[in-house]
Amino acid sequence: MTISREIRLKSRPEGMPTADNFELATTELPAPAQGELLVKNHYMSVDPYMRGRMIDRQSYLPPFQMNEPLEGGSVGEVVESNNENFKPGDMLLGMLGWREYFVSNGKGLMRFEPGDAPLQAFLGTLGMTGLTAYSGLLEVGKPKEGQTVFVSAASGAVGSIVSQIAKIKGCFVVGSAGSDEKAAWLKDVAGVDEAFNYKAVDNLFKTVNQLCPNGIDIYFENVGGKHLEAALEYMNPQGRLVMCGMISQYNATKPPQGPSNLDYVVAKQLTMQGFLVGNYFHKMQQFQADMGKWIAEGRITWKETVREGIENAPEAFIGLFKGQNFGKMIVKL
Ligand code: NDP
Repeated sequence: MTISREIRLKSRPEGMPTADNFELATTELPAPAQGELLVKNHYMSVDPYMRGRMIDRQSYLPPFQMNEPLEGGSVGEVVESNNENFKPGDMLLGMLGWREYFVSNGKGLMRFEPGDAPLQAFLGTLGMTGLTAYSGLLEVGKPKEGQTVFVSAASGAVGSIVSQIAKIKGCFVVGSAGSDEKAAWLKDVAGVDEAFNYKAVDNLFKTVNQLCPNGIDIYFENVGGKHLEAALEYMNPQGRLVMCGMISQYNATKPPQGPSNLDYVVAKQLTMQGFLVGNYFHKMQQFQADMGKWIAEGRITWKETVREGIENAPEAFIGLFKGQNFGKMIVKL
């Protein structure tokens, strides 16, 4: 028998989630039967999209159910196996759940070879997060050399990779982030051309205008609200808005106000395209090859915020909405 702890949704958050919306439950797992295996999770991914699944509504993914482990991304390891397709030491990646251990019949589990890379990187830069940045920027944004790319939440998990890929593609890159330290990292370490702390500027519009002297050709949207309005204001004709996420609205308790200058989409003939990383898994091989090369060449770097212990996962999640992560938010088990 194995004792495992897991994070469950106790109640559906209204507005900003609180610790009370979550429950740390303890379960007793039986030894794996014939055909089954026991998996130990090592790292859990903490992602803004999980907020949407806490709402009881139909969307591109079903809502989380109460009294079940949250269906979050994790990296795990097979520790015991009575299934001929898996052996102890096999590494697994996918929606393994916010739990320390689980017993599975092996269906739907995906093995992977971490090689020399740190395990948790497969939840971030080398995994879903990196693929989001890669496919969103390259497939939707379609950057060309010399163009200006403006990125919101630019020091975050997705934003920091978008910013650096845009630099690799020869773009002029401007990033917005929520602290001086994050903005300094973007310029000094990630190598973007301009970065600013949006919480410290007097006027977001003026700042964006000043830092993007040639206008914006591509806006990579992670935030929504005023950032989107500022981007629309300074988009160049035929510019592209890559709609990845709008975290500033995920906890809204009433319908958020739309951008007051949306009519620019017509006048400037803009393309505003939403995308979901789930539709780009066919790009995974190409992404991993390119990303591996860029990392080896020292052209991509990243930050992680690691919280230890499954009991700290709810606070880690809530921290995403307060900018408490610098780069990818991870929980180490
Ligand atoms: P991040 O690592 O960027 O973490 C979220 C960050 O958002 C925070 O650190 C904070 O940074 C910023 N933030 C939070 N609240 C606000 C606010 N009210 N206004 C401005 N900024 C805010 O998360 P991810 O990289 O995982 O995700 C980034 C975006 O991409 C999210 O919108 C997410 O939903 C989306 N996404 C979309 C996918 C898709 O398939 N379309 C897949 C994965 C992610 P700061 O300190 O700068 O404020």
